[in-house]
Amino acid sequence: MIYRELKNKVLSNVAGLVLTVENLNDPELEAKRKATCEGCPMMDQENRRCKICTCYIDAKVGIKVNHNPLKLMRSEITHCPLGKWDDVDVANHYRKIDNKTLL
Ligand code: SF4
Repeated sequence: MIYRELKNKVLSNVAGLVLTVENLNDPELEAKRKATCEGCPMMDQENRRCKICTCYIDAKVGIKVNHNPLKLMRSEITHCPLGKWDDVDVANHYRKIDNKTLL
């Protein structure tokens, strides 16, 4: 039990780092993403992390492509898991791969 909790904590912290493959370099879009997250009930305001993907939002909004440590370092187009960044198609692409209900 303790091992599982420790493993989850380590994985969560690694996931929070959002392992960058390619930066976005689009300040306008980054600001738009951040504003969306800051108004989202799934944002942990105290720690500035998304409660779903566990990513640190201030880092995540500036990334175009990342490795996902929770998915065996799968390369992903950086996206909102709920499609709130006007990216439902991208979110659904990964939800389909992960056998999750589509948005
Ligand atoms: S990434 Fe999506 S679900 Fe997570 S806090 Fe931002 S808007 Fe909410």
